[in-house]
Amino acid sequence: MPHPDAMTAESRADDAGVPVSVRIRERLRAARKRFHANDNIADFIQPGELDQLLEEVTDKMQAVLDSLVIDTTSDHNTEDTARRVAKMYLKEVFAGRYVKAPTITEFPNAEHLNELMIVGPITVRSACSHHFCPVIGRLWIGVMPNEHTNVIGLSKYARLAEWIMGRPQIQEEAVVQLADLIQEKTQPDGLAIVMEATHYCMAWRGVKDMDSRMINSVMRGVFLKDANLRREFLSLIPRQVAPQ
Ligand SMILES: [Zn+2]
Repeated sequence: MPHPDAMTAESRADDAGVPVSVRIRERLRAARKRFHANDNIADFIQPGELDQLLEEVTDKMQAVLDSLVIDTTSDHNTEDTARRVAKMYLKEVFAGRYVKAPTITEFPNAEHLNELMIVGPITVRSACSHHFCPVIGRLWIGVMPNEHTNVIGLSKYARLAEWIMGRPQIQEEAVVQLADLIQEKTQPDGLAIVMEATHYCMAWRGVKDMDSRMINSVMRGVFLKDANLRREFLSLIPRQVAPQ
């Protein structure tokens, strides 16, 4: 086996001095793939490149600290801040952009479940695309299965939500992305998601409203057509959250 770093002299020359982010971006452009803040780009990152990105983002974060006129050399508190922030973005809070979707085993609906099922509250930890400030909240998922629906374990909904929310997000787009993903994996007759979250860009900065929560929902399939089912779902999630 050749060493994983082994490259031809030609490709080594091509890549010399080209930041890894530029190489990844070129692949995305060549494939005409969108790479907005809340898009996942894992398919365009080659093995080892995430660690190279960590180095690149660390250097750029250091430049931000320098421009903020923070003496990271003598201030021991900020000595490693550039690396900590780079790691936090790439491997923790925005990992949902850089890693592939969690593997979810889908089972056929052997029990022929056809009753409304509600999963939640699932904790939401995200950040807004506008300010990179935390967005912290909860969500509830309502599923109306049929005999052809795939069944996934309850904890898997939380894993899918974590993957979608682990990106710089816009709440309205986040719930739609999550609904699309669950729809694709399980093909239910109906799907409903309600998300309630505090946007810290409103609390920490801006209007400094400490209790600015945003609630939104997506309804699909039978939840759109059947008002009684919609009411049943909303009545089963906490009162203060359910949109009227
Ligand atoms: Zn914001």
